[in-house]
Amino acid sequence: MNTTDAPRPDVLVVGGGIGGLSAALALTLQGLRVRLYEQAREFGEVGAGLQLAPNCTRILHDYGLLGEVVRLGFLPEHMIMKDALDASELTRVDLKDMERRYGFPYLVTHRSDLHGVLLRGCERAGVELVTGARCVTYENIEGGARVTFADGRSDEAEIVLAADGLHSVARTLLVDDEPVNSAYVAYRGAVPFERVAANDVHEKDVVLYVGPHCHFVQYPLRGGRMFNQVAVFRSPKALAGRDDWGTPDELDRAFEGTCGPVQKGLPSMWRDRWWRMFDREPLTKWVTGRIALLGDAAHPPLQYMAQGAVMAVEDGWVLAQHVGAQLAKRSVRGSGVDWETALAAYEAVRPEHCRRVVLTARSWGELWHHSGTKREQRNAVMRARDTYDYAFMDWVYGPTSLTPDQEPPMYRTIPLDSVRV
Ligand SMILES: Cc1cc2nc3c(=O)[nH]c(=O)nc-3n(C[C@H](O)[C@H](O)[C@H](O)COP(=O)(O)OP(=O)(O)OC[C@H]3O[C@@H](n4cnc5c(N)ncnc54)[C@H](O)[C@@H]3O)c2cc1C
Repeated sequence: MNTTDAPRPDVLVVGGGIGGLSAALALTLQGLRVRLYEQAREFGEVGAGLQLAPNCTRILHDYGLLGEVVRLGFLPEHMIMKDALDASELTRVDLKDMERRYGFPYLVTHRSDLHGVLLRGCERAGVELVTGARCVTYENIEGGARVTFADGRSDEAEIVLAADGLHSVARTLLVDDEPVNSAYVAYRGAVPFERVAANDVHEKDVVLYVGPHCHFVQYPLRGGRMFNQVAVFRSPKALAGRDDWGTPDELDRAFEGTCGPVQKGLPSMWRDRWWRMFDREPLTKWVTGRIALLGDAAHPPLQYMAQGAVMAVEDGWVLAQHVGAQLAKRSVRGSGVDWETALAAYEAVRPEHCRRVVLTARSWGELWHHSGTKREQRNAVMRARDTYDYAFMDWVYGPTSLTPDQEPPMYRTIPLDSVRV
């Protein structure tokens, strides 16, 4: 039994987060009929900030949504890294110059604003949006795939895209793995700017303070009327194997000894909820038959490269580009997409790119959280970087690759042990 009386769609998307919505939009813009299922009763996102690099804003532009996202968000002038202990500047990126280099801006947005823009884009494009539907099983069937929901209903289409997040049900079809616990936890807080105006904050920049087993991020939101902060630290209780880890007492202790601007920011963090940081080991197979993973379901990262949502947006765009190419061979039956070819092209390029990002995010986290001599070596490397050197960014902020041969080489790492301090 289908969940609606509408005709069978070409594509089912499970999950109405940023990944699912943007993929549904991308495929609908290619002329496909897409139905999206979300388990929550209402669509929504947590009310905190999100950084969107040029490899995402380029795609938002392609969908005709960048103007609205920019209007609702904020275009910062610099991205600055500082030492969390003494507040000294380590390195900075000139984001206006970066925009010239990559052709599209680096912007910061309220998550619910981006989510709302994508949701309205889906509505306008004609995506069929269904809430209150929790998918419990996925299966391949003749010529397509079927999903079944907790209330016993089911639905089928030519393909199913599983954008069901970190705890993806569909992922279990491909691998028997568990999220990897990093023992780090994030506190967030998005507050009116007046609350932080006296705190030595940068009004127009993204600022990252890196410290021993902790870091602190600040940036403006919504035209500068709001201010977003993220405090991340390693939890001693998690390391001790306790279940009750990441509590506010640990937050306070983790940032003892950090500089004034960080200390002043901490009271504005939300203290009633926190996000434990998990990723998963990279997966090279994302497709089984007519079921494909997308977004955090496929590649949940630690957030240190600010690329989780960005990669999810790229996934849907890449698949839609390959679908568009296939539609040139439209047949009289069904959507006309040669799904085997389109899904194979998707799986040929995205897992390797996302593997690189997931692993690089882990190593950037290590780099940020050093103490002692390694902290000094890290600081020396960062201070030596030229503001206009993009060697660390070209492989990720440039145009999204559609084929493996377009994937750029990664940067050359600098071993910290080679640095004299
Ligand atoms: C502190 C923090 C900061 C971050 N900062 C950034 C950043 O600056 N930039 C960036 O790009 N990324 C960032 N990320 C990562 C980013 O938030 C995620 O990678 C991204 O939101 C993943 O989107 P998604 O749609 O794949 O998954 P999700 O957002 O998890 O969405 C999954 C959706 O599927 C639904 N769902 C789940 N199971 C089912 C089911 N069985 N049936 C139906 N529906 C289901 C869920 O309700 C949800 O709506 C950050 C993450 C954290 C924790």
